[in-house]
Parts: sequence; structure tokens; C-alpha cells
Amino acid sequence: MKNQLIISPNTVLANSLLNTIDLLRPRIAYLKPKKIVFVVGTQINGAPHLGTNIVQTVAFLLANEVRHKFSIDTSVKFGALDNAPKEIVNDPFSIKPYQRTYFHYFGEQKIHDLIEDFYKVFFNGLSDLTNIEYEVETYTKHQLQQNFRVEFINSLHKINDIKWFISPSNGMAHIRIPCPKCNFAEKHCDQTTLEELSAENAIFKSYCYEHGEYISEISPYTDAYLDLNTIYRNVIKEAISRFDGEILYVMVKGGDWVFGCQLVDWALGGLGYNINQLPMRFFAPQIVVETGAKLSKSLINQGSMEMSGQRNDWILDTSGRVKTDENYIENLIKLVDNLMSDPKHFFRSYSYTEIDRIMEANLVQKRNFKVRTLRIFRKYYQLIANGEKTIEVRVGYSSMKNISTGQYLKFVCQDDECLTVVKRVQEYSSFDELFKNEDCKKINPHLSIEEQTSEIRKIFPNEKEKLGVIAIEIEKISN
Ligand SMILES: [Zn+2]
Repeated sequence: MKNQLIISPNTVLANSLLNTIDLLRPRIAYLKPKKIVFVVGTQINGAPHLGTNIVQTVAFLLANEVRHKFSIDTSVKFGALDNAPKEIVNDPFSIKPYQRTYFHYFGEQKIHDLIEDFYKVFFNGLSDLTNIEYEVETYTKHQLQQNFRVEFINSLHKINDIKWFISPSNGMAHIRIPCPKCNFAEKHCDQTTLEELSAENAIFKSYCYEHGEYISEISPYTDAYLDLNTIYRNVIKEAISRFDGEILYVMVKGGDWVFGCQLVDWALGGLGYNINQLPMRFFAPQIVVETGAKLSKSLINQGSMEMSGQRNDWILDTSGRVKTDENYIENLIKLVDNLMSDPKHFFRSYSYTEIDRIMEANLVQKRNFKVRTLRIFRKYYQLIANGEKTIEVRVGYSSMKNISTGQYLKFVCQDDECLTVVKRVQEYSSFDELFKNEDCKKINPHLSIEEQTSEIRKIFPNEKEKLGVIAIEIEKISN
């Protein structure tokens, strides 16, 4: 069913796919993974904007779709980039910039609190509604892992094959190892030199404008902090996330990454990897302003980018809305569901005013209603969850008569749940009348009318049927 809420032109990629998640099918067919982990990385330098929330929601919804369509176990991994620069100072003599990361500025506990503050409610909400587990890993923990450091040392042995891909303008890889005394590191690393390199370790000499020269050893067994420029960091991350026979990693990225990924690919090729062993990437729609430029909070704060639309404050900082609008996460899921409903809608960009319009259009159906939970037997639950059953039948208890079009219904069976929205409600005086007027294949595609009538009368005895019966047409949103 095509969603007329959004109009999108065709594209080469959309033309090749029936469904958005079909992009994963070739890799699944080729590698036959036992599990798929959707990895979403976010800089934690301040409150998230809508674009960030959309990428994160895409990861959860993809994980959910893939689990159901391909019957493969899935989860989400959130990479918190706590190595973003928090402070930059210039050496008073050379004017060279030195930087200190969020991790070094705030320390582990405050970083943990920052992630909790900005993301915990949001991720828990997404996890609850999609039933997908997630874990959080900071860059600080990531770079300390043995496989990260082994891969980094391996890349140093091939640095001449990859340095132009990592740093196309000057061939200089930025390897930032903070000063052990003050934790500042040279931003451009032009005074950092590799002194010794073996199969197990690398010895670097770096320079601090305040504390002079210092020597650091990077190996799987040392804890000297290793901060790399963005392309290099992604090369190491993707190299260690290559297919191990069990887990396929899918990097979920904002659409602006499309351009930069060529460099990552070339560097991975330089390291000798075959592209089909490597993780795949799924690019989420990019949110742009009226000029077509990516929505940038820092440019807007500086006054060099404008947003002319109404009601736009929350778009730049969604953390308040996550806490005050109990429906925000569901609205966002509905939005991303709209975007994923057709590959033409997914593999493109959206202006923030268009996103706002789509979310508002969804809200109109939903306003004033809360999610209502309905318990249901396993066999019917399965039919709803896999989209085969789109009409639920109930008897006319007063609580059921309150259900109306636009309301969200959550079907729950043990630990599983499936969120739906009510499209239509129709009352009848008896099951016979209901089955005469409704498409019984939408109630249960596997049984005849006679079988269904007898089955439903076992569930709802005659005195209940006298209350009247209700057909509730639903559309699945997520499960
Ligand atoms: Zn220092």
C-alpha cells in the first residue's frame, strides 16, 4: 500500500527495490548471518536534533523489520562519540591548535550522565515500542578494545597504502594521543611521529605546548588514548566489524555520509579487505533547510543559517520534547514508518518543514487518544504481527465501544507486542451479520467463514454476543 502522505520521485536505487529493507537482502543471502547488529554512532556534543533522532529511530525500526521479515535475531548498538573536541586552545607561540575531548573534559561519570540525560528515555522508549534490545558503547571504550588496537597497528604497517585515502589533501593521518599531564592533543598532529613499529605495538612521540615531548605506546595491552581523524576512525571501526561468520553489522548513518564513504571504502581496499566481508551501510534521510543545506545547529546558533518555518524550536533540541511529549517517540516511529514505507520515500532528503508537516498530519489522526493495550492469543497475535490479520473482532463491552478511528492499539501476547492504529470501527448485532459484511480473509486468512464463526463463538459465548460485536480494522505500525 503506497502512502500518499508523501510524494517522491523515482530513483535508481528505489527502482531496484520493492521494499526499503530489500537493500539488506543481497548481503543476507550472500553471508547468511545468524544475527544483525544495527550500529548508530552519534556525537554527544550537546542535545540531539531531529535529524539525529531520525537516524536512531531508523536503526530500531530496521532491526524490527529485519527480525520479522528475515527471521534473524537483531539488536541496536549505539556508539557514543565522546572523543568530540570540547575545548580548543592555541599554542601562544606557534598558534597551533590543541584540543581536549569530551571524555577528557568531563570524565567517565559525567559522560555516562550526559548519555543518560540526552538518550536514555528516548532509547528505552524506542526499545519498548519496537521490542529491540540495545547497548551503548562510548568511543573511549571502543578504542581500548584489543581488536581496535590490533587493527590500528595493522593499518600502520600499511600506512603508505591508505594515507591518501584517510587524508586526501596531505596524506597525513591524524593520530591524536593526548598529553598524559593535561590531556590536550595536537589537533593536526604535525608534531606527532611514529618512532617504532612492530607486530605488537607502536611507539609515538608527540608534543604538548605546555609539557613538551612525550612518548606513548599503543598496543592491545596499554591504555594510552587513541583518537583518530573521522575517516581513519571509521576505517578501523568497519574493519573490525567485518563478518565473522555470525554477525553482520549494519552501519546506520545520516545521508551526509554518502559522500565521505568513498574514502573509507578505498582505505579498506588498501588494507586488503574484500567489500563483501565488510559491514554494510544504511543511509537515513537527511534533514535540510530551505536552501537544501543540512540542518546544522551550530550554523543556526551562529546566525549564518536560517529556519523560517513555524514551531521549529524543538527540531534543534529534541531532548525537552522527549521528556514533555509522551507521544513524541510514537510520532517519530510513525514518521519513520512513513519514510520506510517506500524506497522512494526513504532514499532521499527532507526539509524540516516537510518533516514537520508529515508529523502533524499523523498527529491529526491520533490527537487526544492514548495507546490502548489489548491482550490477545498467540495465534492471532502472530497474524497481526506479520500483517495478515487487519481486522480484529471483539464483543461490545463498554470499554470496546470506546475504541475509535485514529486510536492506537497495542496488541500484547506475553513479552511480544505490536503497535497498530485503528482505521475503522464497525458495530454489528451478531457474528453472522459481521461475517456477512466484512472480508473474513482480513480477520483470519487461513480459515473459512464457517470455521471462523465456530471458533469465535468458543471464545465469546452467546450471552456476550448479545452485547453486540465490533469489527476493528487496524494497520500495523511496528512490533
Ligand atoms: Zn600537556
